[in-house]
Amino acid sequence: MADPDANSTFHERLSNARARIAAAARLAGRDPERVRLIAVSKTFPAAAIQEAIAAGQREFGENRVQEALGKWPDLRAAAPDIRVRLIGALQTNKVRQAFEVFDAIDTIDRPKLARAVAEEAVRAGGCPDLHIQVNIGEEPQKSGIPPQESDAFVRLCRDEFGLPIKGVMGIPPKDAPPAPFFALLAAIADRNGLAEINMGMSGDFEQAVGLGATHVRLGEALFGPRG
Ligand SMILES: *Cc1c(COP(=O)(O)O)cnc(C)c1O
Repeated sequence: MADPDANSTFHERLSNARARIAAAARLAGRDPERVRLIAVSKTFPAAAIQEAIAAGQREFGENRVQEALGKWPDLRAAAPDIRVRLIGALQTNKVRQAFEVFDAIDTIDRPKLARAVAEEAVRAGGCPDLHIQVNIGEEPQKSGIPPQESDAFVRLCRDEFGLPIKGVMGIPPKDAPPAPFFALLAAIADRNGLAEINMGMSGDFEQAVGLGATHVRLGEALFGPRG
C-alpha cells in the first residue's frame, strides 16, 4: 500500500512524499511550508534511520517508549536539530522515561495522564510539546478523548494543569472515507485556538493536508515495507 517500489531509496521516497504534500497544500490554497512531515521510524533499525537523517529528515515518530530509549540517544548525535515524537499510547508509569527521550508527546488522551505529565513537567523544569489525541471515529479499540469531551479536556490540560498543548492528533477509522473525521479534528483545533493539527498517514495524507493538517505521519511510505 505504502510503497510501490521497495528498492527505491529513502531520499527518493522522501522527495516523492514532499512533492505530494506540496501539491495537496497548493490545491487547498495552503502554504506547503506549514505542513511538517513526521517520519514514523518505529520498528525500523538504526541503519535505516541514519539513511533518513543523511537524506535531511529531522522529525521522527516512535510508538513505544522503550524502543525509542534504545535507539535515539545514539542516533541523536548525528544532527543537533533532530526531533522525536511519541505517537503511541503512554502509560503514566512511563512518563518520566518519555520526558528523557521525546521532544513532543502526541497522545495526551486522559486526565490521569495529563496530571502525571504536569507533575513531571514541574519536576523536570520543562515539558515536551504536547498534542491531545482525539478518538475522532469514537472507536472503542482506539485511544483518544471522545470528540464531545475534547473542549473540556483542552481546558483542563491548558488552564488547570498549565500544559503546553500545541494541537490535536487523530486517526480516522480504517474502513470509512477519512475526510469527515479530518474535518472534525480540524474543527476541534479551530474552536480551541490550537494551531497544530496532526493527522494523515501513508494512505490518506493528501486528504489530510487538504483539510488543514500541519503534521502528517508517514512510516512505510518513507522507509519501505516493514517486512
Ligand atoms: C505506525 C503509525 C503511523 C505510520 O504508519 P505507516 O503504515 O508505517 O505509514 C502513523 N501514525 C501512527 C499513530 C502510527 O502508529
